[in-house]
Amino acid sequence: MRVAIPSLPAGPHAPPTVHTVEHATHLIEQLLTRNARPLVLTGAGVSVDSGIKSYRGENGMYLNRGYRPIYFHEFVDRGAAGDAKRHRYWARSFLGYPPLRTAQPNPTHTALAALQRTGAVHGLITQNVDRLHHAAWHGVPPHSVELHGALSEVVCVARGTQPPQPTSRWWDVPTSKTFGPIDRYTTAHIHDPGTGCGFVAPRDALQDELADANPAWAAWAERLLHEPDLALRRNPDGDVQLEGVDYDTFAYPACPSCGGILKPDVVFFGENVRNSVRLAAERLVHDADALLIIGSTLATHSAYRLVRDMVEAGKPAILLNRGPTRADALLKHRIGLDCAQVMEQVAHNMAHT
Ligand SMILES: [Zn+2]
Repeated sequence: MRVAIPSLPAGPHAPPTVHTVEHATHLIEQLLTRNARPLVLTGAGVSVDSGIKSYRGENGMYLNRGYRPIYFHEFVDRGAAGDAKRHRYWARSFLGYPPLRTAQPNPTHTALAALQRTGAVHGLITQNVDRLHHAAWHGVPPHSVELHGALSEVVCVARGTQPPQPTSRWWDVPTSKTFGPIDRYTTAHIHDPGTGCGFVAPRDALQDELADANPAWAAWAERLLHEPDLALRRNPDGDVQLEGVDYDTFAYPACPSCGGILKPDVVFFGENVRNSVRLAAERLVHDADALLIIGSTLATHSAYRLVRDMVEAGKPAILLNRGPTRADALLKHRIGLDCAQVMEQVAHNMAHT
């Protein structure tokens, strides 16, 4: 299962079938009460209210025009071209990560956590890499899968031949100078070493290491925090748009265990979803008897396939998303309303019945 740059097939797209919050909440409550093990699938639309931009607007186009994400094969290329790509990636990621790290869960995350606590929602698959479902749950939500990984960790993805001799054990600290105590609900993460050596470290700790190694960039990052007018365009993977700067000066560490290549633990375009993650997601889909999709256009094939499999198995499904999605033709009930408004009302109603 390889992640391609998402694209929506050209229209016409079927319009939403549900237009009022009252009708929407009624349908979702029915879905959650009549089925024993409902599964929720969330996408970027769920995190928009937390200040994290959606990849796609209402018309299905990229919100940042001209944005071209890095591909996995470019990132792990061991030649000079790969090195240049990594300098550039880490420089931009260094500037783009802090606001994502400090983003807070919004009413949709809170409502879903409440519905999971009462058992109304059984499983949760998210395409988001921001750990905000974890933050709302205050831990690792049960029966949950992060389909595209999470920004909170960095992992070794290409084994090296010679461990470096770092001046400090930057990865092995309980507290980050930038973010405070390091525990963004990280420990239970599924991990297959794959082509790497198995090294995992908190992204927060790497942020400090990058700041120490690149003081001029750190000063710039500090300015960005206090001068919002300087705000750069940010994408949901923590990348920022930045022109006219020399990325080659940006230093980043090799894997401390093997000298290999470190990468944020998110699935890049052109990269395969890790086998254990794919299997865990398929198990949740298999065990579920109903599906609620929230804030996703289902433009990535991995997510679309999960939905298609459930619908083909005859399980009821409802979609809550503004704008067109790839699965419009598959689904009977499509709610074109604001996620937070609807889900807050569902959680409220179900807590009082
Ligand atoms: Zn390694």
